[in-house]
Amino acid sequence: MLSHVVGFMGPFQDYINAGEGLQILFDFPNPKNAHFQTLERGFQSLPNALSASIKKSGGSIHLNETVKSITKTETGYTIEADQTYTAPKVILAIPKKPMKELAKSSPVLSSNESFMNAVNSVQNMELTKVGLYFKERWWHQAQKINLTNGPNFTDLPLGSVYSFSQFPADPIADKNYNGPAALTQYTDYIRGNFWKEMQNVGENYQSEEFPENPPGTTACSTTLVNEIMRQIKLLFGLDEDAYVPMPVLTTYRVWGQAPYGFGYHQYKLNVDDLKDVYPNITSPAENLFVCNESWSPEQGWVEGALIMSDYVLQQQAFGLNAFAKDSFATSVKS
Ligand SMILES: Cc1cc2nc3c(=O)[nH]c(=O)nc-3n(C[C@H](O)[C@H](O)[C@H](O)COP(=O)(O)OP(=O)(O)OC[C@H]3O[C@@H](n4cnc5c(N)ncnc54)[C@H](O)[C@@H]3O)c2cc1C
Repeated sequence: MLSHVVGFMGPFQDYINAGEGLQILFDFPNPKNAHFQTLERGFQSLPNALSASIKKSGGSIHLNETVKSITKTETGYTIEADQTYTAPKVILAIPKKPMKELAKSSPVLSSNESFMNAVNSVQNMELTKVGLYFKERWWHQAQKINLTNGPNFTDLPLGSVYSFSQFPADPIADKNYNGPAALTQYTDYIRGNFWKEMQNVGENYQSEEFPENPPGTTACSTTLVNEIMRQIKLLFGLDEDAYVPMPVLTTYRVWGQAPYGFGYHQYKLNVDDLKDVYPNITSPAENLFVCNESWSPEQGWVEGALIMSDYVLQQQAFGLNAFAKDSFATSVKS
């Protein structure tokens, strides 16, 4: 029953290590025990700050280039992308799917059997997100719902719906806000298939305000929108024929369908990550390093990516001090 009401089914229902389901149970049903953090100026402020710091130190950033192969040389590595690069030390901060692709053309990776076993210790997990954008935050105004912020879970195919504070740091301004707002529906595993089938039926949902979707986004189908609005009403305790405003804009995206990689990763059955994974994944060859959410103690979270980058930067080749006092390096040796 729990697996149907904590938002994510995959880690419980798929062939996944039991520890993963346990981790989600600790994170989700009792948010008092989990410390969720947001960045005041939005998530983009993190890469912006990192990028500014790299440039300030004389570094440069090359975007939109795919690394196609990496080859060991006497002095370090040659990296083939749109251009050819050389480097004495390399960190590959990429997930499982592109890592396997890169290994096909990079013997320095593919010839290391324990590394490839570690790469394959995780399962790719698909995630689906539907964005519903409204002119008014109606779920907050309606006395019967009065919902401002946070996840709402159901065992309907709807899975989970998140509402967001408009002014997280100012509860009074937030309480009075009734302007444009979004609901985000989040599903995984077989629930994602339910919405995939809905998305496959009928024409796109467009409104007078948005006769076309913004570039880079995909509209939901009208069939999907009608069904999701019906289930949202049930989740919010309304009758399914109660009137609620329809969205003016919708978006649909599956992380797992090309061109995107997978949403997140989970350890397969019987994997002992401390023993089987971290000692083998972190450095497949001298001065070549790997860090990513895929092989981390907090898969599915940015925290997992940060923990493992912190861990790699503490290796002898870089020798930086641990960023966090309870650094992961204190519990695992590579
Ligand atoms: C729908 C969704 C919602 C999420 N919500 C949350 C949340 O609320 N909170 C949270 O903490 N986490 C959330 N996550 C998880 C979080 O986004 C990831 O854990 C995090 O982005 C992983 O970071 P990473 O740097 O390890 O890997 P990635 O973000 O996957 O970065 C890898 C980068 O490498 C690039 N790359 C891949 N192959 C190559 C190549 N060959 N050459 C060059 N570049 C390459 C990719 O383009 C990508 O930019 C969510 C994830 C999804 C999909």
